[in-house]
Amino acid sequence: MDLRIELAKTLKPKPRDEGALGFGRIFTDHMFSMDYDEGQGWHDARIIPYGPISLDPAATCLHYGQLVFEGLKAYRTPDGKVVMFRPDQNMQRLNDSNERLCIPKLDEKDATEAIAKLVELEKDWIPRAPGTSLYIRPYVLSTEAFLGVHPSGSYLFAVILSPVGPYYKEGLAPIKIYVEDNYVRSVRGGTGFTKCAGNYAASLRSQVEAEAQGFSQVLWLDGVDRKYVEEVGSMNVFFVVDGEVVTPELNGSILSGVTRRSVIQILKDWNIPVSERRIGIDEIAQAYKDGKLQEAFGTGTAAVISPIGTLRYNGLDMQINSGEIGEISQKLYDEISGIQTGTRKDRYGWVYEI
Ligand SMILES: *Cc1c(COP(=O)(O)O)cnc(C)c1O
Repeated sequence: MDLRIELAKTLKPKPRDEGALGFGRIFTDHMFSMDYDEGQGWHDARIIPYGPISLDPAATCLHYGQLVFEGLKAYRTPDGKVVMFRPDQNMQRLNDSNERLCIPKLDEKDATEAIAKLVELEKDWIPRAPGTSLYIRPYVLSTEAFLGVHPSGSYLFAVILSPVGPYYKEGLAPIKIYVEDNYVRSVRGGTGFTKCAGNYAASLRSQVEAEAQGFSQVLWLDGVDRKYVEEVGSMNVFFVVDGEVVTPELNGSILSGVTRRSVIQILKDWNIPVSERRIGIDEIAQAYKDGKLQEAFGTGTAAVISPIGTLRYNGLDMQINSGEIGEISQKLYDEISGIQTGTRKDRYGWVYEI
């Protein structure tokens, strides 16, 4: 791929206090961009100074939301290497999202290499403190000026980078979740399996109401029967019930997380029973009442593993593992974050060295 590089004339100061990084508010000096035009395909791959994107006010993404994104991270290893975690999986999923939203597909290998080039250029922005990383946000938006409801004829693929601290300020402290029985996130046949912007716009009302009640996220139920567990906010969800790890099977309305996939693989290798199947929320409440609900946790790039300490459903506050992080949750966190940051052996070939 031909890649043009235009360097920024002045560089921004790097954040001094890595402990106060937070999530997603600071951006590096450069970004990646590439255009798509009908008849021409993807063209003009470039790394340019980070700055505003100019769009026609009639650009279709602003009206009809043809907009998809991804999220992954780059880490610094103890021996000074810069690595990403399973970027091929993110690029594959980006293309799955593209396909669903009628956005032209990207060459996954080229896109991964473009991201690697950008990260390499910005490697001084990768923080060093434990739990920190460089968050990578690739996204595609439609740019044609046209008010008809129709796939756009032009697109922009962009990648921005943000140095981030640990996702939860409290560290691995268990979170409080309530089961959403009013709003739904997606339905089968919809866009739930994609990372399209509209999914997140539709989830905000529920998120705001959860926060107002002191919960950090909601657990979504399926949109048809409203009784099967789907996922948590922007994480997939796992339960440990009577020694078995269970997670909802992929059904088209659940996002297929890279962390979810990695957790399932690792559990299999540890010979811990794990199954993907339909899970009723009543089954979880019953397991709790029977004393068999041992652990619950969310999985996602941002937090890796997020133990669930309290789950509220139908007036029942389930205190899971006395509100402490469970043994399997902790072991998984240590293993995955160890592989990601190069402190544990990568037996899977998941680490992409830049
Ligand atoms: C991104 C995301 C996840 C987690 O996916 P990872 O690839 O593990 O980061 C889960 N659910 C939703 C809705 C998401 O947007």
